[in-house]
Amino acid sequence: MAKKDPTDLTVEERLKTLYQLQTTLSSIDEKRALRGELPLEVEDLEDEIEGLTTRIEKIQADIDEYQRAVAQKKGEIENAKASVERYKAQLNDVKNNREYDTLSKEIEFQSLEIELCNKKIKEANFKVEEKKAELEQNQALIEDRRQALDLKKAELDEIMEETRAEEEKLKVKVKELEVKIEPRLLTSFKRIRKNARNGLGIVYVQRDACGGCFNKIPPQRQLDIKMHKKVIVCEYCGRILIDPELAGVKIATPSTEEKKPRKRAIRKTVKKDEPAVPEAEA
Ligand SMILES: [Zn+2]
Repeated sequence: MAKKDPTDLTVEERLKTLYQLQTTLSSIDEKRALRGELPLEVEDLEDEIEGLTTRIEKIQADIDEYQRAVAQKKGEIENAKASVERYKAQLNDVKNNREYDTLSKEIEFQSLEIELCNKKIKEANFKVEEKKAELEQNQALIEDRRQALDLKKAELDEIMEETRAEEEKLKVKVKELEVKIEPRLLTSFKRIRKNARNGLGIVYVQRDACGGCFNKIPPQRQLDIKMHKKVIVCEYCGRILIDPELAGVKIATPSTEEKKPRKRAIRKTVKKDEPAVPEAEA
């Protein structure tokens, strides 16, 4: 068969191709489901570590600043002490009371300065201790998160390793199928699939109902679906509907099927259908 323009495909062919695309995408979804929350957990941990790193840097900067302040105050104390010594020496040869009073006042002032500096140093040292404890806590926390991240990453890598090859093959098939589908139909299919909880954009009619939302389909509409003359969507959920026969699905007779396992029944059928798809593709 020569390569056709997607728009040349009959509705029947389009629906068939779309259904093949659906089963392929569902297989990829299943593989991804195996990874579960792991990719998200890895991302969360990476974000948390980044946040902790920033916090640790901030605490370290605070400590540095308090320590600089302590050094500065120590310098001021040295200066004040030197002044006191100098004034005390001058006291020995004062000439009058006024000079004595002035020097005494200076000594008192410098002593108060020293006291104040000591108080500030004490406060800053206290802050440094506080910050150091905070730093230690956050360092322990980041270490813990790094270990958790390593574990999660290893776990994820292992799963990825197992499924990667298969997933790559499926992705290639998706690409092959996608080019066969008319872009407009593909776009709306993708949109439906994205909004559907189970990732199904096209479903087959099952016991007179939509295989996606299980709402009943009126008989006339069912007939239209069987005709494969136009693309028909479920009026409740918007999913594209396909005749099971066209989808290549064998449906269990209603008498053997209970109401409850409906959802499971679909998954099973999709799985069962998988080997049939590569055949159609080849
Ligand atoms: Zn529906």
